[in-house]
Amino acid sequence: MGQLDEKTFDAIVAAGCPACGGKTLEIRSFIDRRVLLMLADPNDAGKWVHDGEKFVDGTYSITCAACKHAVFASDLCPRCNAPGGLTKALGDASRMAIPKKCPSCSELELLALALVPAVASWPSPKPKPLAEYGEPGHHMVAYACESCDNAVVTQTCPLCDAPGPLRPRP
Ligand SMILES: [Zn+2]
Ligand SMILES: [Zn+2]
Ligand SMILES: [Zn+2]
Repeated sequence: MGQLDEKTFDAIVAAGCPACGGKTLEIRSFIDRRVLLMLADPNDAGKWVHDGEKFVDGTYSITCAACKHAVFASDLCPRCNAPGGLTKALGDASRMAIPKKCPSCSELELLALALVPAVASWPSPKPKPLAEYGEPGHHMVAYACESCDNAVVTQTCPLCDAPGPLRPRP
C-alpha cells in the first residue's frame, strides 16, 4: 500500500488541523488520468479515472488550507515507496514516449493512462491537476490501441524510475 491506509486517512481528515482546528485540508495525491492522443498530441483535456482508494493510496501531502500547517507529508515515491522518490515524481518529465501511431497497426489514435499530481480541497473531493500533459509531474503509465488491442505498460516505476516489480495498488 501507499503511505496512508484508509483508516489513517479517514482519521486525519476527520480530526482536521491540529494547529488551528481548521476543517478544510489541501490534499495532494498522484491519481489516474486517462488521455486520448492523436498523433501523440492530446485530443482532449483528459479525465480522472481514479477511485477513492487510489486517491488515498497516492496521497503525499496534507496541509491545512487556513494556516498551512503540514498535517501529513512524505518524500517517498507515491507509487513504489522508494526513499526520496517524490522529488523525481514531481520534477521529472514523463519517461514513457508515446508513439505517433500504434506500432502494430498504425492507428493514429491511442488511449493513454497517466499518473498525475492533483490537489483537492477536502471535504470537496474534486481534484485539480497540478501538471498537464508534457509538463514535469505528468507521467505516462501505459498506452493502448483500441483498433488492435495492442497495449504497452511501463516496466519501471513511472514516477521515479525505480526498477520493478511495483507494489500492487488498491
Ligand atoms: Zn491550520
Ligand atoms: Zn493498433
Ligand atoms: Zn517510484
